[in-house]
Amino acid sequence: MKGEVIIELKGVSRHYVQGSRRLTILNGADFLLHQGEMVALVAPSGTGKSTLLHTAGLLERPDAGEVILAGRSCGGLSDDERTAIRRNDLGFVYQFHHLLPEFSALENIMMPQLIKGLPKQVAAERAAQLLDYMKIGNRAQHRPAELSGGEQQRVAIARAVANAPLVLFADEPTGNLDPGTASYVFDALEALVRQSGLAALIATHNHELARRMDRRVTLSDGKIVPL
Ligand code: ADP
Ligand code: MG
Repeated sequence: MKGEVIIELKGVSRHYVQGSRRLTILNGADFLLHQGEMVALVAPSGTGKSTLLHTAGLLERPDAGEVILAGRSCGGLSDDERTAIRRNDLGFVYQFHHLLPEFSALENIMMPQLIKGLPKQVAAERAAQLLDYMKIGNRAQHRPAELSGGEQQRVAIARAVANAPLVLFADEPTGNLDPGTASYVFDALEALVRQSGLAALIATHNHELARRMDRRVTLSDGKIVPL
C-alpha cells in the first residue's frame, strides 16, 4: 500500500544555457513520490535524469515551479536550510561510489552520522548494522580500494541511508557494474528500501531492474510521464 506523499514536484522547469543555446530540460514537470515506493526513472542519456534528481533532491533550484518535501515547500528555504534537509532527510547514490578513499567502509558510513552530531558509538553501531544488512559485514575495516565494485556500491548505499532519510535518490547506481553484480547490488538496495519504508527514485538504463520497481517513469518534452 502506498503511504503519504513524500515528494511532490509541481510545474517544475529547469533550463540550461550552453553558449547561445537555451536547453529546456524540465518544462512544467509534475510528479508524486509516496512513502515506501520505489520508482524507476528510465530515459536516454542527456534527457535530464540527473537534472531531475538534483532538482528534486534540493541540489539545484528549479527556474519555476515547486519542490515540496513531506508537505513543506522548499523554494523559500535558504541554502543552509536546504543543506540541512539534504543531510538529514535525503540520501544520494551515484554511478561512482564517491567513498572517501582513506577511510574504511565502516568509517565512510559513520561520517554522515558524525556530521549530524551523533555520538561515535551510535554511528559505529548503525554503520555495522547497515553493512550486515548489505551482507558485507566482513568488509567493515576495508578501504574502498580493497573492495569490489559491487561492494563499493553497497557501502555507498549504506552511507546514503545512514541518517535514515525519507527519500533515496540513486543516479544510475548500477551503471558501472556488470549485469550479475548489478542485480546483486539491487537486491540489497531493494531489501533496504522495503524494510525501511523509504521512498526511492532510481535512474537506470537497466530495464530488468526497472521492471522490479513499483512503477516506471520517463521524461518526455520536459514532463515526467508513466512508462
Ligand atoms: P541525463 O542524466 O539524463 O544524462 P542530464 O540531466 O545530465 O541528463 O543533462 C540533460 C541535458 O542538460 C544535457 O544535454 C546536458 O548537457 C545538459 N546539462 C546538464 N547540466 C548542465 C549544466 N550545468 N550546464 C549546461 N548544460 C547542462
Ligand atoms: Mg545523468
